[in-house]
Amino acid sequence: MTTPISRRMFLTLGATVVIAACASSEEGKSSLTTEVATTAPATGLAPPSDLPSNPFTLGVASGDPDTESVVLWTRLAIDALNGGAMPDEDIDVLWEMSATDSFDDIVLSGIATASPQYGHSIHVIASPPKAAGLLRYRFRLGDFISPIGTTRLSPSSDSMEPVKIASASCQNWTAGFYTAYHDMAELAPDLVLFLGDYIYEGGTGSLDSGAVRLHNSEEIKDLVAYRNRYGLYKSDPLLQAAHHMCPWVVTWDDHEVENNYANLTPEDPAEADGYAARRGDAYQAWWEHMPVRFDPPVDENLTIYRQFSWGSLVNMLVLDTRQYRDDQACNDAVLQTTPACDDALLPERTLLGAEQEAWLTANIRGVDKVWNVLANQTVMTDIRLGAAVLNFDQWDGYAPNRDRVLTDITEQGVKNLIVLTGDIHLSGVGQLTTTANPTTAVGIEFVTTSISSGGNVPPETQGLLQALPNILDAEASHRGYILHTITPETWTAQYRIVDDARIKNSVVSDWKTFTVTAGTAAVAEI
Ligand code: FE
Ligand code: CA
Repeated sequence: MTTPISRRMFLTLGATVVIAACASSEEGKSSLTTEVATTAPATGLAPPSDLPSNPFTLGVASGDPDTESVVLWTRLAIDALNGGAMPDEDIDVLWEMSATDSFDDIVLSGIATASPQYGHSIHVIASPPKAAGLLRYRFRLGDFISPIGTTRLSPSSDSMEPVKIASASCQNWTAGFYTAYHDMAELAPDLVLFLGDYIYEGGTGSLDSGAVRLHNSEEIKDLVAYRNRYGLYKSDPLLQAAHHMCPWVVTWDDHEVENNYANLTPEDPAEADGYAARRGDAYQAWWEHMPVRFDPPVDENLTIYRQFSWGSLVNMLVLDTRQYRDDQACNDAVLQTTPACDDALLPERTLLGAEQEAWLTANIRGVDKVWNVLANQTVMTDIRLGAAVLNFDQWDGYAPNRDRVLTDITEQGVKNLIVLTGDIHLSGVGQLTTTANPTTAVGIEFVTTSISSGGNVPPETQGLLQALPNILDAEASHRGYILHTITPETWTAQYRIVDDARIKNSVVSDWKTFTVTAGTAAVAEI
């Protein structure tokens, strides 16, 4: 992780427990309140509780593993659809890690403080012994015990051990069920990469208009409403089970705040007043519910772009293409086939922001890993039709920024570039090119379809998509995810699709499987 991290969260090193709580204080969001050293794990000392019912209703999660530690997450909420219904006070919770489901041998444990300021969420940075392998973890408060999650550290930096990473995005509650996660659990990835649209901000929806289940409120616009929306999504047992199976690395896209927002520009310019506060609330609620290794937002800002590694196989840069971007050009028109307005080609246009762009180009090179990966939100493959831009929200609407990044990567000799993308609710395989060299692939993009969200493009456009020169294949009718199997020699993307995500327990099967051989920028169906 190259993003600066202060240790306001709970940091555990061996048997020394350092508690640095995000507790409420006069200074607000930046206090390091408690530091406790113990010489042995605190086993079986679940703090007393007079809560009337189970506060572990949202399950547990782990994430952002590195070779030394992994983040363990939960949030205490007796009534997650109504603000949590927790006492307005700090609450100490015991966390435990063990090699077994019985937890009769505790490898590591500690006390973490859940504070009302952050919705009684807990983020522990746990450092189990490196040799521990797969570990179970859980939280305890009085007699209440959380569900058990499974997690692990990433392997040592010289490891060539193959890894399976599932990429997923876009899980609109109202549009479908999370059957894809049931299948994902059976295929047992080592890691889940979530590429955005974890929640959707819209209103209740209606069964008459095709919703399969309803949102819990009108459009969410403040902290309590965003929290309650996460409470709804995280009540889903299949989503909880997917978090319980392995660590996740999570980034966001637009709907964690609002459709197609750009930096501090809302979708509807009439809502500009107060929008910064709304974004800050949305970012805070996201932080509270994700197993991420960084501090909560300050005002309306939260730096989430970061570097992630897996052994000597993967150097991954996890991007944030929402927080710093210029507003979409040309009124954010969709599927317009006339030439784009001049704004789209202004050289200063940015999707990443200058700081993140410099960070990206500095960290994609000089890293001795086999595969260089961008974990990205919107489609990067150039699908412009001549001078027409079909979707100004994608990298096509920021082509100069894309050219700068891909040209730099190519000139620096960065090999084996893989871009993993969500957003568009269809399965796709693209080749990455620059405007100067439009027929030379410099990398491959694997676009995952949505977990449940409805198609952004009508299935009839599948033929058009497949005919675009840089689209190698596409499937627009199904929901699902991609299971990537990564070895020193090959990157294999197995596209799993749900027969019908609008009915429960629908069949999940392969659409197609594609492979890239290291040393090439070519992809083949296998
Ligand atoms: Fe989406
Ligand atoms: Ca999106």
